[in-house]
Amino acid sequence: MIERMTEFTETYNAVKQFQGKGFRHYLRWTALSALSFPEPFIKNTRPRVQFLYIHHVFKDEENSFRKMLQALSREYSFVSYSEAVNKVFTGKIDRPYLSISSDDGFQNNLTAGRILGDMGISGCFFLNPGLISETNFQQIKQHCFEKLEFPPVAFLNWQEVELLQEMGHEIGGHTLYHERVLGRSMQDFAYDCEKSREQITHYCGETKHFSFPYGRFTDFSQEAAQIVFKSGYESCASAERGCHVGTTPLDLNKVCIRRDHVLPEWPISHVRYFLNQNIRKAGPSGNVFPYPNL
Ligand SMILES: [Zn+2]
Repeated sequence: MIERMTEFTETYNAVKQFQGKGFRHYLRWTALSALSFPEPFIKNTRPRVQFLYIHHVFKDEENSFRKMLQALSREYSFVSYSEAVNKVFTGKIDRPYLSISSDDGFQNNLTAGRILGDMGISGCFFLNPGLISETNFQQIKQHCFEKLEFPPVAFLNWQEVELLQEMGHEIGGHTLYHERVLGRSMQDFAYDCEKSREQITHYCGETKHFSFPYGRFTDFSQEAAQIVFKSGYESCASAERGCHVGTTPLDLNKVCIRRDHVLPEWPISHVRYFLNQNIRKAGPSGNVFPYPNL
């Protein structure tokens, strides 16, 4: 048993080695460093709500994650996911707000939860309930490889999910097994939404938030968004970059939460680059799904 446990990947360095992204990673890093050089700080005070999301905080990412949050807390007011969503819904936005979430439910989300908790920040963890408490190593390995392009990484169990809640974090749905929504039958997706919400509610109490796997508009559809809202979720998040601005209440069943993906190892200038870009581009049309008949 102990031997099997050690097969799980515990550092982000090992993940990068597995993904073989050494050179591409370096190029991206260099480009972002050059782009972010002229504007190291976020000076823009435009009232807005922005969402950052991560997938993991491995052992070798803990310090940089903490530093990232410390730097951002000087430029933003951190709010819980529900508060952030509510500000987007109502348009009652009086200053820059930021919310943090994490997708996929790796066990090292507990580390993210602890660091956030230490800083008094409430995050939201989007889980695939079909994988929570999964212990079959081969199954985990296959899932990580096929669905996430990751080496085997352990998943949270339900006791650990409860710990996250005790630390003040929220739990959201991310489908049962992280299947791409586009391409599935809508009947199958509706069943998934119902079941995954039921399971999370059973262990965690009522859940209000959903994020769809892979997160691009091309991974989802108008019909799928309608199913999410019909199944009882109040909010639906993408992984499309963006920034929420506006002053009037929105039609809740049209709202798409936009989130910026960040890696905890990034220098803060890279994070600020994306945040700044989105502030400049932000407009009311960015609050809703781009599907014409929703
Ligand atoms: Zn995901």
